[in-house]
Amino acid sequence: MKSKVLALAFSAAAMAAGASHAQEQVLNLYSARHYSTDEALYSNFTKATGIRINRVDADDAGILARLKAEGAASPADVILLVDAARLYKGEVDGLFKPVKSAVLEEAIPAQYRGTTTAEGTPWFGFSTRARVVVYDKVRVKRQDVDTYEELGDPKNKGKICIRSGSHPYNLSLFGAVTEHLGEAKAQEWLKGLQANLARDPKGGDTDQIKAVAAGECQIAVSNTYYIARMMRSANPEDRAAMEKVAVVFPNQQSWGTHLNIAGGAVAKNSKNPANAVRFLEYLASPEAQNYFANGNNEWPTAKGVKVGNPALQAMSGGGDFKAETIPLTAVGANTVKVQQMLDRVGFK
Ligand code: FE
Repeated sequence: MKSKVLALAFSAAAMAAGASHAQEQVLNLYSARHYSTDEALYSNFTKATGIRINRVDADDAGILARLKAEGAASPADVILLVDAARLYKGEVDGLFKPVKSAVLEEAIPAQYRGTTTAEGTPWFGFSTRARVVVYDKVRVKRQDVDTYEELGDPKNKGKICIRSGSHPYNLSLFGAVTEHLGEAKAQEWLKGLQANLARDPKGGDTDQIKAVAAGECQIAVSNTYYIARMMRSANPEDRAAMEKVAVVFPNQQSWGTHLNIAGGAVAKNSKNPANAVRFLEYLASPEAQNYFANGNNEWPTAKGVKVGNPALQAMSGGGDFKAETIPLTAVGANTVKVQQMLDRVGFK
């Protein structure tokens, strides 16, 4: 832990030094993305523009805390986060510089953007991931888990494994459920879900899938890219685990499956805002969308860009599924309420 802090401090110093070479074009990126395919994304941008990218890696919460602590002295130009509620938090906390870009407005659908004002738009989503249900093929009937509502039904008692309720992915999912059902019903649902857990929440999404394959629980909730990663894994044990489970995209007959996003913003105190916007515009291009979205087994958000990803296609039964269409700003706005509901029902 300590070495990570030192590494971050060192890169900030390196960034400050880099910025003093006035001739060189640089872009300081704070990224919560942890995907190896992103290297190609950055080097292609540098090749095309001559702008060098300095990257600091941390998680969503760490990046937002750091931006706040650094204030006007922050060297950050571009922020990349992997959750809608966190992007919304950055917007509300005034950490982003609103962007006016015809390229981004044309490419990225409004539901995947922050709140547009006269000054511009604070953030843009560049890929989507669905939060779906994984279940034991033998012991669970598909019709018992094909809606989020049923995860809170007593018929699924003792069967469910899920990561911490306060993890951003779950806060966003529960924020979406709250938007669809209303607060009172959503809290009842959370109480039911909590009562249905096979064990106390622990680990990440992949751990929940493995727990279903190992028979420790029968139902799990996961982002689609973790499932695709296991389906395409070089490790035969991962592929064997995936043989034991099935995937369902919930709420196909009602409001649709919950989508989350990974997205980007220009830092409030960016010293290179024009280059920062250029980078975001690059992320909306078909080439970059292929690395940004498909490289991590996600769906691109840019209009007209499609990916041919066999794992995503197999998982979603051909590639088409009904996704929810509520604005992600509404999901983000609900997460404070959700955290209070989790505390009330004792969901860890
Ligand atoms: Fe993740």
